Amino acid sequence: MSTSNKRNSNAPKKGLATQSIHAGEDRLRYADSITTPIVQTSTYAFKDSKEIEAYTKGGKARFEYGRYGNPTEQVAERRLAALGGAEDCVVFGSGMSAIITTILALVRSGDHLVITDDAYKKTLEFCSSYLQRFGVDCTIVPFGEYGALEAAITRKTRFIFSESPTNPYLNIFDLERLHRIARRHKVLTLIDATFSTPVNQRPLEFGVDLVLHSATKYLAGHNDILAGAVLGRKELMDEIRGLHKAIGGVIDPHCCYLLLRGLKTFPLRVAAQNATAMAVARYLEAHPRIKRVYYPGLESHPHHAIAKAQMSGFGGVVTFDIKGGMAEAKRFLDHLKLCFIAPSLGGVETLITHPATVSYYDRSKKERYALGITDTLIRLAVGIEDVDDIIADLDQALKKSAPVRRRRTG
Ligand SMILES: *Cc1c(COP(=O)(O)O)cnc(C)c1O
Repeated sequence: MSTSNKRNSNAPKKGLATQSIHAGEDRLRYADSITTPIVQTSTYAFKDSKEIEAYTKGGKARFEYGRYGNPTEQVAERRLAALGGAEDCVVFGSGMSAIITTILALVRSGDHLVITDDAYKKTLEFCSSYLQRFGVDCTIVPFGEYGALEAAITRKTRFIFSESPTNPYLNIFDLERLHRIARRHKVLTLIDATFSTPVNQRPLEFGVDLVLHSATKYLAGHNDILAGAVLGRKELMDEIRGLHKAIGGVIDPHCCYLLLRGLKTFPLRVAAQNATAMAVARYLEAHPRIKRVYYPGLESHPHHAIAKAQMSGFGGVVTFDIKGGMAEAKRFLDHLKLCFIAPSLGGVETLITHPATVSYYDRSKKERYALGITDTLIRLAVGIEDVDDIIADLDQALKKSAPVRRRRTG
C-alpha cells in the first residue's frame, strides 16, 4: 500500500453507496487484495538513514509510529471525509475520545462554550464539570430555545455544541438558524450527528464547522466495535489531529478494518433502518398500550417540519412512553424475545433501553422527571431484522405489559 498512489477520490464524485465501498482506497492494494489490508503494526521500519532524513525533512510521505498514523486508519479517515463531504476527518478509538479531544483542541483557559441540555450525558458532564478545572466555563441552554442560546453567547464564547437528533426525544436542531446565530457572533458550531449519519443529514452543507460521530453506532453498524470520528475543514482538523496524536485515543488497526467493513453496507443499512423505524413508529402510535411516540418522521413530533426540511431520512431510533408505571415498563422489557435490552444503537441487532434504569439510574425520580425521563420511557433502536418480526416481538411484549388485574378473593 503506497501513500502516494492516485486515489479514487480524484475521480468524479460518486454516490454514497459507491463511496462507502471505494472512497479513500488505493486502486491497487498490497498483494492485489480486494479488501484494505489490516496493517497490524505498532511501528514502521526505515530502510536506512537516508530514508529517515527524507522523511524528517518532509520530502517523503510515509508512516513512522502507530500513534501518528496507520494505513488502515488512513483509508477509514479518507472514506469518512468523502462520505460526509468534509475536507478532512480524524478517526478515534471511541466517540467520546473524538468529542473530548476536539473540545480540548479548541478551547483555551478563560474561554466559554454553550451546550444544549439534552446532549449526550458524558459530553455534558465533561463540559459542565471537568472543563471548569481548566478555567473553561460552560452555559447549558434548553434545547430549542434559540433566544436563550443566542443570549448565552459572550465575548469569550468559542463554540456552540449540540446534537441533532438528540437522545432520547429525537429533537432536531434547526441548522440554518444555528448557522445564522453563530455567524453573527463569530463562534464555531459543533454538531454531534451520531443519530443521523451522512445518509440522513449533512450538517457541513448548512455551515456547521465540525461534525462528530460515535462511529460505534451506524457507521460501524454491527454492535462489535467502539470508534469515533470528527469531520471538518483542514485548518481545524490539523489542530485536532495534533492533539489526538498526543492524547493517543487512537483506533486499533483491526478495529479500523471492522469499521471499514461496516461502512461498505452503511447506506443500505440506514435506508432499511429508516423504513423499519417509520413503520414501527406508526404501529406504536396506533397501539392502545402506548401513551406517546417520539419519532421525527411522525407528524406528531414537535420538530417534524424542520426534520423534513433538513433531513433525507429520520433514522432508526423510536422513543415511546408506555401506559402505566415502572412495573408495566419492566414487564414489557422482561417479555422481549427478539429485541435485546442493551444501550447503544445503529447496529444490525435491534436494541431497547429503558433510560430510567440504565442511563439515569443514579438520579432521583424527581430529577429524572425534571429531565423528561419518565419511568415508562423506552428507546428502541431498530436493527435490520424483518420489520414484521420486530413488530411481532413488541406486540407480544406490550400485551403482557398491561396492568395485572387482581381477582378478588373471599
Ligand atoms: C454513543 C454516543 C456517544 C459516545 O460514543 P462512544 O463511541 O460510546 O464513545 C456520543 N454521542 C452520542 C450521541 C452517542 O450516541
